[in-house]
Parts: sequence; structure tokens; C-alpha cells
Amino acid sequence: MRLVASAYSVAEKAGAIVRKVLHSGDLGIVEKTGANDLQTLADRLAQQSICASLSRRFPKLTIIGEEELPAEETGEDLIENGQAEEILQKSCPAEYSGLKEEELVVWVDPLDGTKEYTEAMSGSPVVMRLVASAYSVAEKAGAIVRKVLHSGDLGIVEKTGANDLQTLADRLAQQSICASLSRRFPKLTIIGEEELPAEETGEDLIENGQAEEILQKSCPAEYSGLKEEELVVWVDPLDGTKEYTEGLLDNVTVLIGIAYGGKAIAGVINQPFYNYQHGAGAVLGRTMWGMPGMGAFGFQLQEVPGDRRIVTTTRSHSNKLVTDCVDAMEPHEVTRVGGAGNKIIQLVEGRASAYVFASPGCKKWDTCAPEAILHAVGGKLTDMHGNAYRYDANVKHMNSAGVLATLRNHEYYVSRVPPSVLQALKSD
Ligand code: AMP
Ligand code: MG
Ligand code: MG
Repeated sequence: MRLVASAYSVAEKAGAIVRKVLHSGDLGIVEKTGANDLQTLADRLAQQSICASLSRRFPKLTIIGEEELPAEETGEDLIENGQAEEILQKSCPAEYSGLKEEELVVWVDPLDGTKEYTEAMSGSPVVMRLVASAYSVAEKAGAIVRKVLHSGDLGIVEKTGANDLQTLADRLAQQSICASLSRRFPKLTIIGEEELPAEETGEDLIENGQAEEILQKSCPAEYSGLKEEELVVWVDPLDGTKEYTEGLLDNVTVLIGIAYGGKAIAGVINQPFYNYQHGAGAVLGRTMWGMPGMGAFGFQLQEVPGDRRIVTTTRSHSNKLVTDCVDAMEPHEVTRVGGAGNKIIQLVEGRASAYVFASPGCKKWDTCAPEAILHAVGGKLTDMHGNAYRYDANVKHMNSAGVLATLRNHEYYVSRVPPSVLQALKSD
């Protein structure tokens, strides 16, 4: 009776372990004899817990468990010492009351239904799970960007010069994004803007969440079979760094773009200081995401009213070519704001009709996520010639032939680009 009472408590502990491993997001799956005979971290930990707990209390038992495990010390946190009271209070059938510990054999299946357990996790196609993770990871990065600002010490470093800065927020946000995604998706190619020393990422920077609302969407058929190793993730941990250091906080975004076959197929944009003009009570930050073929979410799509041409362009990386090209569009209005992500938000929220940047300087991590979201709502992002950029893992990072992005009427803007610009900025 004492053994059954212990087994009851030990089985409850094992159940808790099985739940905990699932929620950690990393099942640690190993094939035993093949793909239909799996072992997970939950099988291993639950068996360790059961066998060690029972054999500590009943050292003469014979215990046979399903999993072959290396002989190693079991951590104290896995030991269960409880005994179900209600079982101890029952009276034992007479025929069993004289049994000795060494006469009993215990058969343990620490997790029955392992295959189904793993399918609970991998029910969605990998690209949907990646977008769902990228959403949560971008939110975490946004929180880091806010926290560094409030700490009061931005830790500013010049990269190539005074208009090319890096702050502590750029560094920590990139560490957080890259480590979180690569822990969950180890075969991804992830390319981040910042060059960082290879060092351990603190656990406090790791985000394990996945946006439920994204997991519940159905994946466009063309992407549902994509493999992790075929995907490339372009990360701009903080777009609009110059503006961040100057307090133009709504210009700042976190950009995570996902590419397959050279094309931007999904994008997540977090705007950490969205609402900051609305004072202390306002909830700060929002996250937008989209996939061509599915749609875009987290904002209200709007177009510039009428046929007004409102051109948005850089405020901190301008030159004569840039201003000549903007003028050639014959705009009714020009707005100069920071950030590539921010300028795409202007396009999809009806505050600008074209993003015109006739200069090198903008990189693939600036355009991948924005392009995916823009494309998801019928817009276009190209170089100044109207040619698409590619986002394969081995492409040049610089968007050397400039950036031209529109929600509508792309052809008009391409047709207005002056010959001097076409001459100076060659497509790859
Ligand atoms: P902007 O429109 O000036 O905010 O630039 C959009 C993105 O491109 C930002 O990530 C900038 O850092 C980057 N960028 C554009 N021009 C340059 C440049 N000349 N040097 C470094 N980064 C640039
Ligand atoms: Mg950037
Ligand atoms: Mg950046």
C-alpha cells in the first residue's frame, strides 16, 4: 500500500514534468528505432523522477522503465517524497498484505503517447511557428529598447561615423532576438545588423513565447512545406537608431523579416514607443505582422486620400541625389522621418504615398520585414529601377540601388526617377 501511495504521488510529479517540458518550447526529441519511436526530454526526466523517487524509498524493488538512460545522479528537484493519504487509509486485500519489497516488480512508462505529444507542438507548419515566435521575440526586443532608454544610459558607439550609431539597445535587442530564435529553430540562417562578440546570452534575454493568434491562422499552401534550414531571417534589432538617440521615439522599430527562395515571405515590426505622445497613461508599443498571400495585421490599412503624392524620405541620410529624386516625383508634400520600418508604416497607414531613397545606405535587414508587410497589402518595394531585391543568405547586405516603396501606383514613381539617379545607382 505504501508503494501504491508513493506511485500515485510520483505519477503526479511526472505529469507536472511532462507539462513543464511542453511549455518550455524545447521538447529535445530523439529518434530511438525511427521516426515513429521517439523519446523526448519529458520521457527522460519523467522516468528519472519516477525511478529515482521509488528506488530511494523502496531500495529492494525491481523497477523496469521504458527509456534507456545514462546512469547519472538524479537532481533533488526531480525527487518526489509524497504518498497519497487516501491510498494509505484503504485496507489492503489480505492476499497482498504480507508481500515483501524484493518480491515486487514495477513497470514504468514515463510518457505513453510520445508521438502524439510531439505533434501537439509541431501541429503548425514551421514558418507559422517561426512567425509566431518572431512576434513574441519582437515584443521582448521592444521592451528592451524601452528599458535601455529609461535607464538613461544609451551606451552610444559610432560604427562608420556620426550618422551610423549603435546603442546598448541595438546590442541587447539583437542578442535577445537571435538567441531566442536560434534556440527554438537551430537550423535557421539568421543575419543581424550588429556585429557582436560571440558570448553567452543571459537567460533574462531569452523569449520563449509564441503568439497564439498566429499559430491559429492557416498557412498559405505554398509555404506549408518549407523547412527550417531553407529560411533566412533578417534582423534589424533597432531601426532608427539616430532618431532614438535624439528622442524621436515613434520613428523607432524592431524589424524581423523572413525570406525563402530570395523573397520576403513574412515580416514582423514592433514599434516600441507607439502612443508615446499620449502621455504617461497610454499603453506603449504595438506589433504589426504580415505574410503575402495571407494579409497583414496589427494596424488599420489606409490610403492617402485622393491623388495626393506625399513622399516620405530620410531625415538624417540625405544628399543631392536623394533630394533631386524626391523633387522629380513632383510631390504635393514631402515628409522627412527616420527609419525604414517607420516609413513603411507611413505608407500602410495613409500618411505617405511613396518612400523614396535614391542612395545606398539602407540594408537588407531594413527592407525585408517592411517589404513582406507592404506586399501583403498589395504594395511594392524595389530599387530605383523598379527591380526587386533578393534576400538569400549570401546576398550583399547593402541595397545599393536605393529604395522605392509604394502602396499603389509604383509604376508612376519608377517612371519619374531621373536618369542621373539611374546612372549613379546600378541594380545588382
Ligand atoms: P533613414 O531613412 O535615414 O532613417 O534610413 C533607413 C535605414 O537605412 C536606417 O537603418 C539607416 O541606418 C540606414 N541608412 C540609410 N542611409 C545610411 C547611411 N548613409 N549610413 C548608414 N546607414 C544608413
Ligand atoms: Mg535600420
Ligand atoms: Mg538598426
